[in-house]
Amino acid sequence: MQKVSLVIPVYNEQESLPALFERTLKAMDALNRPYEIIFVNDGSKDKSIDLLRAQHGARPDVVKIIDFNGNFGQHMAIVAGFAKVSGDIVITMDADLQNPPEEIARMLAEFDKGHDVVGTIRENRDDPFYRKFCSKIVNIITNKITGLNIHDYGCMLRLYARRIADIIAASEEGTTFIPAFAQKFAASPAEIFIAHNKRERGVSKYSLLRLISLNFDLMTNFSMAPLQFITISGMAVSALSVLFAVFLFARRLIVGPEAEGLFTLFAIQFFLIGFLISSLGVVGEYVGRVSKEVRKRPKYVIKQEYGLEQRK
Ligand code: UDP
Ligand code: MG
Repeated sequence: MQKVSLVIPVYNEQESLPALFERTLKAMDALNRPYEIIFVNDGSKDKSIDLLRAQHGARPDVVKIIDFNGNFGQHMAIVAGFAKVSGDIVITMDADLQNPPEEIARMLAEFDKGHDVVGTIRENRDDPFYRKFCSKIVNIITNKITGLNIHDYGCMLRLYARRIADIIAASEEGTTFIPAFAQKFAASPAEIFIAHNKRERGVSKYSLLRLISLNFDLMTNFSMAPLQFITISGMAVSALSVLFAVFLFARRLIVGPEAEGLFTLFAIQFFLIGFLISSLGVVGEYVGRVSKEVRKRPKYVIKQEYGLEQRK
């Protein structure tokens, strides 16, 4: 029977952990497959690590922990988990129980049909309206820009064949967006609808600013389209300016010199300056990420591991 490795990133989740342990272990036990759960403590400042350690003490056969030295982000926590999995099937899940662990059985059924990546789409997603609205727009734009076809980038209850998890773990990239990465290397991806609940305990770890930064990661890592958009728009603006100059010249010959229209000029000018500054920003997003990769600092630092010595 193929073994399942469940990877769960944990960042200040002390309120959610007791219920998470109970429901997840129950759901995993019910699968009747060998399994392990790797919790990656992403530098929590609350009592999460104590709760995780206690759970490792209670079920050392299945509960394993990677304890980070600081906060490296959800995706890096998952990459660290991927580097340590011993199963043939790897599943990621959030720690806040927004994705019900009871859905894992249905994802495994898709894997058994021969799919190497099983993505999920949140049905009746129970999140604040502005998050859902932004996600809709982001999903559409991201698919257009990256050329991928994922219907719900934000849902992290996902399944990957071990081969895919190994590719991601071996990647040298310091910023990555795992669902998109996996989709790129999948031979036969599938997507299923799964239930989604409100976060009942604790708070979301993503501020608006962090979500925006995550989406820039996604776009800059998977596409040059934003840069091409700037180049092409720049060319279009230059072409229009030539036409405008010709028009002004002709107008001067026919109607005479022009002195009015100062505020129209301001409007055009402000628009162009705004465009210029945001273009500089887009270029900067790429340059910043390149310089981060070039420095080659470790993607994450592990303080301690529990129960992970015997990896196959
Ligand atoms: N998380 C993490 N490191 C971070 C932020 C979040 O490991 O820096 C974990 C968090 O503990 C949770 C998952 O990533 O298990 C998703 O976070 P959250 O539920 O806050 O995101 P949301 O559902 O609001 O998008
Ligand atoms: Mg959540």
